[in-house]
Amino acid sequence: MIYLDHGATTPMRPEAWDAMAPFATTVFGNPSGSHSVSRQAKNALEEAREEAAAMLGCASLEVVFTGGGTESDVLALAGYTTGGGGVVTSAVEHEAVLETAAALTRRGSKVVVVPVDSLGRVDPERVSAAVDRETTVVSVMAANNETGVIQPISEISRLVRSSHPHVRIHTDAVQYFASKDVNVSEFGVDLLSLSAHKFGGPKGVGLLYVKEGTELEPVLHGGGQEMGRRSGTQNVMGVVGMVAAMRAATSDRARYRRDVEEARRRFELALEGVGFRTVPDSLVQHSHLSFPGVVNETLVIKLDRRGLAASAASACQSGASKVSHVLTAMGYDRDQARQCVRFTFGWTTRPDEGEQAAAIVLESLESR
Ligand code: PLP
Repeated sequence: MIYLDHGATTPMRPEAWDAMAPFATTVFGNPSGSHSVSRQAKNALEEAREEAAAMLGCASLEVVFTGGGTESDVLALAGYTTGGGGVVTSAVEHEAVLETAAALTRRGSKVVVVPVDSLGRVDPERVSAAVDRETTVVSVMAANNETGVIQPISEISRLVRSSHPHVRIHTDAVQYFASKDVNVSEFGVDLLSLSAHKFGGPKGVGLLYVKEGTELEPVLHGGGQEMGRRSGTQNVMGVVGMVAAMRAATSDRARYRRDVEEARRRFELALEGVGFRTVPDSLVQHSHLSFPGVVNETLVIKLDRRGLAASAASACQSGASKVSHVLTAMGYDRDQARQCVRFTFGWTTRPDEGEQAAAIVLESLESR
């Protein structure tokens, strides 16, 4: 099987597995307890927090461990809109943001969804202009999960801050971190979401960076873990695996970039004249192609039968024949959107898989 759906999830890195193993057996304590069994777990959790913070360029108390990217996004938005605060976001955000924003609207918050251009780019001026006195959070993703388009987060932060210094700025960097380092001060954000399973950690664990002094209202109430910001016994094993994967992904950046870029170059070269890139520029691992006259769900099934895993849209939507809201926002009609297939390369990709995958695509197209 050639796996080109790393944007949906990527295999765990061996470093993550190795780091997690003791937590399935000997180190089983509840990190909130006071005896030495608990202390071992607590120490592991706090070491992981410090290491994650160092990689993101923040202080360890600014890292809140969560149950994944969705929870981080929900906490970022819901945490600053109690009492009806408003949200400004973009039309191409992940459902975790857009559906949370829709739920907030039903509770009386004002939500403004800023459109994107035909290449999926958010204009920082439009984001800034949409912010008003009711706005408490601005949320724009660092890179899109379907197309891989990178958004100008630093510029958005700079503009919003200059006119509305009290608004919290959130970015969902869930796809971005798989191939690029994240530094919260370079982005200039107050809140940033990551999800472990997109960069070689386990599923069901993530983090939210919360800038010091940015008091947020928790979504999960209870025992007051994570300094009251996210109650519930922490997933110590998952957190340790996530941070080991962050470390592995960070030290593997140069090799990753070389192999993924080469595989993607060979893939797109072999498909020239058949599949067309929908966006000129994206994260290195995304190849979002349009195949004129093809129905993506059918093509993805044919590819799967021949041993190539790709996706007709983002993972959460595949299976349902809903038209991608990302492509709709870029001005595609239903037929145009249904010609698009997402191929996402990852840390296990070998350069020669580029031409092998392209050969499978060509065979599948011929068998129409
Ligand atoms: N945000 C983006 C951009 C994503 O791609 C995803 C996963 O598809 C999520 C959030 C949700 O993350 P999780 O699967 O950890 O809930």
